[in-house]
Amino acid sequence: MATIRFKALEEVLNRKYVDVVFPSNKISEYYGINVFDTEKMRRYIPVEAFKSVMQAIEKGNRIDRKVADQVASGMKEWAISRGATHYTHWFHPLTGGTAEKHDAFLEIGNDGKAFETFRGELLAQQEPDASSFPHGGLRNTFEARGYTAWDPSSPAFVLGNTLCIPTIFISYTGETLDYKAPLLKSIAALDKAAVDVCQYFDKNVTKVISNLGWEQEYFLVDSALFHARPDLVLTQRTLMGHASAKDQQLEDHYFGSIPERVIEYMKDFEIESHKLGIPVKTRHNEVAPNQFECAPVYEEANLANDHNQLIMELMRKMAHKHNFEVLFHEKPFAGVNGSGKHNNWSMSTDTGVNLLQPGKTPKKNMQFLTFLVNVVKAVHNHGDLLRASIYSAGNQHRLGANEAPPSIMSVFLGTQLSGMLDDLEERISDDKMTPDEKTALKLDIGKIPEILLDNTDRNRTSPFAFTGNRFEFRAVGSSENCGAPLISLNTAVADQLVEFKKETDELMESGIKKDEAILQILRKYITESKPARFEGNGYGDEWKKEAEKRGLTNINSAPEVFKTYLSKKTRDLFERNNVLSEKELESRYEIRIEQFTKKIQIESRVLGDLATNHIIPTAVKYQNSLIESVRGLKEIFSDDEYKEISKGRIEYIKKISEHVTIINKEVEEMTEARRIANKLEKCNERIEEYYSNVMPYLETIRYHIDKLEMIVDDEMWPLPKYRELLFSR
Ligand code: ADP
Ligand code: MG
Repeated sequence: MATIRFKALEEVLNRKYVDVVFPSNKISEYYGINVFDTEKMRRYIPVEAFKSVMQAIEKGNRIDRKVADQVASGMKEWAISRGATHYTHWFHPLTGGTAEKHDAFLEIGNDGKAFETFRGELLAQQEPDASSFPHGGLRNTFEARGYTAWDPSSPAFVLGNTLCIPTIFISYTGETLDYKAPLLKSIAALDKAAVDVCQYFDKNVTKVISNLGWEQEYFLVDSALFHARPDLVLTQRTLMGHASAKDQQLEDHYFGSIPERVIEYMKDFEIESHKLGIPVKTRHNEVAPNQFECAPVYEEANLANDHNQLIMELMRKMAHKHNFEVLFHEKPFAGVNGSGKHNNWSMSTDTGVNLLQPGKTPKKNMQFLTFLVNVVKAVHNHGDLLRASIYSAGNQHRLGANEAPPSIMSVFLGTQLSGMLDDLEERISDDKMTPDEKTALKLDIGKIPEILLDNTDRNRTSPFAFTGNRFEFRAVGSSENCGAPLISLNTAVADQLVEFKKETDELMESGIKKDEAILQILRKYITESKPARFEGNGYGDEWKKEAEKRGLTNINSAPEVFKTYLSKKTRDLFERNNVLSEKELESRYEIRIEQFTKKIQIESRVLGDLATNHIIPTAVKYQNSLIESVRGLKEIFSDDEYKEISKGRIEYIKKISEHVTIINKEVEEMTEARRIANKLEKCNERIEEYYSNVMPYLETIRYHIDKLEMIVDDEMWPLPKYRELLFSR
């Protein structure tokens, strides 16, 4: 058994790294060559059709059949010039990841000759034979059809030999079955609500764009070692493994120099990303050994999310070329940091203003304050939903652990800005303010940029932090589709802005001047959302107590967290803003809890198998060798000497027996708990059972296995150890 482990290690040592032939050193020379972007559309499709597509992108207009045909034909011609032979609709099913089904451009004419074709109807809509995608009860077998429909706002691209067309995925009855469709709706809702509010400050604004800049964390593991760990292969995380004597305590990995082989890998996937128009810009080591991060320049949220999904795909593929496996799991290794995906989020106008960046004039700053306060209020209103949108079997290991944001949803603004809001709260009053008071207030609002200049606060313990010109949603898990948190965030903020507009207009109708009305409503929101503002240490126990006093929820249990999808508050929010219907929310709830349950089920099975087939036999074998040796000692030494010398060994023999007995017993109990859970028909009952009665065994069984790892002869241990997984590169 152990030979597998040593073979894997030997393979790592003998690795010959691949030489990658890079194109030109100038990124600008190949940036976007595999994307059917505006410039290429202009070249490949007739002017009128081009105009229609641009209108569809900007205003959401429909594209008619004739135009679709022209676009398809141009797209095909371009794609073939980039080496494509096939095309596919590319979408984000709720399983996570992306899905595609490839068809060749091939057609056979009446004369029996082959030719390439791609028609508008194939571009615009398809019916993937996809009844096996998760739908959470939305599709019965008789209506098992789902449709994919072209999203012209995200450009088509060529990946390998395939033209990929970004699409939404909906059921036969029109319900959404993916992340993209509701994301687009939430973006539209936010656009409308924010444009309305912008009118108070600038009548020229006609569009508000939500932006996303993601930071993708990941681990790299040598493929030989990875394949010698069935738990990594099947669950993407280690279900056992004693901590390495050295891990991240010296803090020598973060921003250290990147290992050569890793650099080669990074360069390789960055080049492919750049060809696909993904603006990756930053690369560095992360806190844990063999943990890294990449981040792009931010983009419009829908495109940015497509790009994140695409780059994850590229990273997986490219890793194999370098004999690596990339792990996107949120917590592949116990005891060292897990991986997140910070979502840097902001709103900007078509007049080029970032609404979360203070400006040079008091008016611009009023606008900034308006959007800032409304976002804080939205997070306060819908903290439970935001938590539910980022919670998963993997991410639960990060939330509330002392390395990642806690599961209490709070907002960090920095002491200066937070102090400024407190100050405003005190100074604005419902009574008429004197002209002097008003002038002083305006002056102070004008000073915001200076305040922010020396706002160097960086609070890593906050799940949702303001970082100067954007909010950073830090609790998002590394494997997550950013669509999930963004749908909730955009909708919550849109809803809040609608409310703000309504309340402000009411005050104005009662005769209060615009600026004062805005300030009064903002003051009210500052007071109401104050409990969600937290500047201190989010890891501390004091915060848990304090948060409870403030009425903030701190929910950690999966079945409870996901119930938020079914609450009236959530349903009203999504229905009011036309983003998700009740039926769609129910299906999303079901899918999320099923995903959670299945992951725990698989982890539990894998752990059971490994314990029974790998660990116990190894421990017993080692124990036998100890028994043998003790017998030998008895033959050689006098009774007194024997007692002294054999003591340690006999102690080990006992310990091994204890651990093995407990592991045996707990594996049996866990299997029984699974059997009981699996019999339950309703998925909400199943998750309760898995969460409360199966999941705890993963921890306790692991504890005893890790103890055995420290006792058993290293030569015999069947699985690569943490020090090997985390330090081989
Ligand atoms: P840090 O690690 O300090 O948070 P990074 O450079 O790793 O910084 O990541 C910053 C991310 O924030 C990048 O993806 C960047 O594009 C994004 N970002 C910067 N400004 C904005 C903005 N106004 N809106 C959205 N994202 C932004
Ligand atoms: Mg960041």
